Parts: sequence; structure tokens; C-alpha cells
Amino acid sequence: MIAENLKRIYEELPAGVSLVAVSKFHPIEDLREAYAAGQRAFGESRVMEFLEKVKEMPDDTRWHFIGHLQTNKVRKIMGKTSLIESIDTERLLDLVDSESVRAGVTTRVLMQIHVAREETKFGFSEEELREYFSERRFERLKAVHICGIMGMASNTDDVKVVADDFRRIARAYEEIKTEIASDLRGFDILSMGMSGDWKIAVAEGSNMIRVGSAIFGPRNY
Ligand SMILES: *Cc1c(COP(=O)(O)O)cnc(C)c1O
Repeated sequence: MIAENLKRIYEELPAGVSLVAVSKFHPIEDLREAYAAGQRAFGESRVMEFLEKVKEMPDDTRWHFIGHLQTNKVRKIMGKTSLIESIDTERLLDLVDSESVRAGVTTRVLMQIHVAREETKFGFSEEELREYFSERRFERLKAVHICGIMGMASNTDDVKVVADDFRRIARAYEEIKTEIASDLRGFDILSMGMSGDWKIAVAEGSNMIRVGSAIFGPRNY
């Protein structure tokens, strides 16, 4: 089942768009099945679960941390992530930077933007992000490389609202990339789109999608 689901998504995915298999809450056997089908990038959202799985999977597995990261757990994951997609405050960003220095690693991250209508979601507002980059506060970072932006659309069946949210995220990304901080190197990831909305996200310019249930089935929380 997992292999077939992956194959279907690979076939539909345009060139230049990468797939992160969101494996949170799924057992290691499911990750192994996806790995055997060729999948290398996996997304996890809880530190303890992530650390367990890192130990169990082959070394060339690429791990994306996609959940809210508590500051007291940052140290535990240093050097183990390919990309932390969920930087949601400047305090967290600065801490990841200092902990990266301490661990002697470089950490690649995305800034999480919040445009969805739910209050509960984490992330910077569009204004906060524009301000962060126009004030060039990223120049302080010593061991963190900001590679782009991650965002989610509102949780609704209204396709117009979802497309609108993705368009706003894509516009903020493009503005930062081409106007506000056009000299920023390697700022080229726009991560948006999940199981139910990734095709809309790709149509709006996403080049990285994070898909869980459409690959692994429903999660048992
Ligand atoms: C859980 C999660 C996903 C995957 O959601 P699905 O609807 O199962 O595809 C994607 N992104 C983030 C940030 C998540 O927390």
C-alpha cells in the first residue's frame, strides 16, 4: 500500500518539487517500506519519536523536523536534521544558531509563516517575516542557514480559501527572495502542501510538499 501510494505521488509530482513523507505517529516498519520504495526524506514532529526513528533508519535517510520545537529540546536534535521546517520565533532561531555553534554543525532551516485562519497554528506573520529580512537580522546568524519558508493553508474544504492562503505565502517568499533580501544565498525552498491540498500548493508555486496520510494512511494519535 505505502509503495503504491508513493508511486502515484511520484508520478503526479512535477519536476523540481520534492516530497517529504510525513511519518509522525507511524511505526518504523512503515518508514522502512517507504525507504525500500525509494523515499529518503521523512518528516517528524515530536523530538522523542524523531530520535527513536533516527536510530532505526539507514544513515542516508534525510530528516525534516516539521513540528513545534520546544526550546528545551533543541540541543537533542542538533546535527540530526536535514532541515528544520518549523522555526516559528526569532528566539528559537537564535537558539538553534547558538546550539549549532556549540555542536559544531550547520543547521538548515525554514521560517514558518502563519497565514491560516486558525489561531492555533504557529509561525511568523507576513509582516514579521518581511521585517526580519528587511532589517537583515539574519546577518547575525553564525551556523544557521535559512533556506526558505514553510507554511500551511487554513483547514477548510473551501478551495478558494486554500489557494488564497498559498498565494499569500508564495508572495511573501518571492518578495523576500527577489526584493527584500535578493542577495541571500540558497534561499530557494517554498514548502507548502499536505495530503489534501498539495496540488493546489504546487499550482501556487510550492517546490516542497509534506505528505503524511496520503502515503501512510490515517494516524493513530
Ligand atoms: C502532519 C503534518 C503534515 C502532513 O499532514 P497530512 O495531512 O497527513 O499529509 C504536513 N505538515 C505539517 C507541518 C504537519 O504537521
